[in-house]
Amino acid sequence: MNILTTNYVLKKIARVHCAKGPANCRNCKKYAKGRRFGLLDTIPDEHPMVARPMIEVEIDGERTFVPYEVIAYFNTLEDAQEYAIKKGITFEILPDK
Ligand SMILES: [Zn+2]
Repeated sequence: MNILTTNYVLKKIARVHCAKGPANCRNCKKYAKGRRFGLLDTIPDEHPMVARPMIEVEIDGERTFVPYEVIAYFNTLEDAQEYAIKKGITFEILPDK
């Protein structure tokens, strides 16, 4: 499956609590207030029955949603890049909407 040029993306997001989202979960609502840079591992949906948060990405020119797992959160872009270099991770930065 061809996802981006790397599985790893960096995006300014709210911390993920669960798949219910801010409208349906008190903790999600609390988390949604503070957004930070999240280093995300986008993964093929091998277990469709498991509810995972989704992120919109562009694959071969088409916008689509893929499930992801959060690897780490960072306060600044610089912190994220430093971490990625140490781990040998190549990531794409997704535009902040
Ligand atoms: Zn929640």
